[in-house]
Amino acid sequence: MFDCMDYITTHAYEQLVFSYDRETGLRALIAIHDTRRGPALGGTRLWRYDHLDDAMLDVLRLAEGMTYKAAVAGLPLGGGKAVILADGKESDPAVRAARFRAFGRFVDGLGGRYITAEDVGTTPQDMLHILENTSYVVGLPRERGGSGDPSPVTAFGVMQGIRAAAEAVLGTRNLTGVHVAVQGLGKVGWALTEYLLEAGARITATDTRPDLLDRARSIGVRTVEPDTIYDVESDILAPCALGAIINERTIPRLKCRIIAGAANNQLEDVRRDSEALQTRGIVYVVDYVINAGGLINVAAELEGYDEAKAHTRAAEIYYTVQRLLALARTEGVTTHEAAMMLARAVLEDSPQGSV
Ligand code: NAD
Repeated sequence: MFDCMDYITTHAYEQLVFSYDRETGLRALIAIHDTRRGPALGGTRLWRYDHLDDAMLDVLRLAEGMTYKAAVAGLPLGGGKAVILADGKESDPAVRAARFRAFGRFVDGLGGRYITAEDVGTTPQDMLHILENTSYVVGLPRERGGSGDPSPVTAFGVMQGIRAAAEAVLGTRNLTGVHVAVQGLGKVGWALTEYLLEAGARITATDTRPDLLDRARSIGVRTVEPDTIYDVESDILAPCALGAIINERTIPRLKCRIIAGAANNQLEDVRRDSEALQTRGIVYVVDYVINAGGLINVAAELEGYDEAKAHTRAAEIYYTVQRLLALARTEGVTTHEAAMMLARAVLEDSPQGSV
């Protein structure tokens, strides 16, 4: 059985809050991992869990991940996350709206220690319902003073990280003729593809949606079937679709020198797979370091959203990736371990309990 209190103690969480709303049936968990650098910011996931243990572990792990992501990005924020337990009743729009309003009250009750945003299963409309009862919510539509869709800034940040990795591994930050295999042509993958084409890169891409493949071919992108992207001989693989795609089955197939893309949780098993990549001489640009543009974008909303400022901050990802790769090289550790070293150094430098 999952020993929640033991997990909370070992990983030094500050708080795990269970919320139930009698009127609407909302059941939600909010995990706050670390607020030494600022309020814990992280999205709210709406998901159907088979067991409460799964929900607890999910929210706790995700919250901890946000602490490291914010720290490495140099943001004055801590790590938190929320999950709302789906039961199917939220498919009724009135129930859904009422539950998100109730959730807004719970978030407000934490007095700003936790700031929420959109995540898997939640929408900008849900954020507007949360906003009715709390101001501790970001990722609002532009017309409501928010930062809107973060994908363009995420793609811009990934592009900076790709340039830094190309410089470190291929010896050039000029991407002319560099071959990039893009997995997923959704919001981030498409915007990244456009940046890469503009920079003169050669692209092979895939997606499960045939319409996106047609569209890609029309702008000069070579396309392949989804499962064959791992076999493409390329300089860089840019995962921009799903998590856990780098694993024991795919690593032996890879024919790239760098992995650098937007997808969250790219490694199925972080320690095992980062070591296997290192052994194979493939440089893995840690996902939460290179895809921080989305977080940088919503964080910019806290001080009055300014798109230019968000881009300027996302451009810093170039230097963060440079530091990450240099640290992994000089310390002889995996990039995953190097990212943790960067995060810990920032966190240890923070005042205790600043919030
Ligand atoms: P999206 O849903 O717009 O795009 C994902 C694309 O991947 C879709 O076009 C989908 O058809 C495709 N896809 C699904 N399964 C596939 C498969 N097996 N092979 C190839 N393609 C497949 O999502 P997005 O917003 O572009 O985000 C992409 C990834 O980046 C996600 O993992 C997301 O969590 C992560 N991310 C996104 C942001 C952001 O700002 N949107 C920020 C940080 C991280």
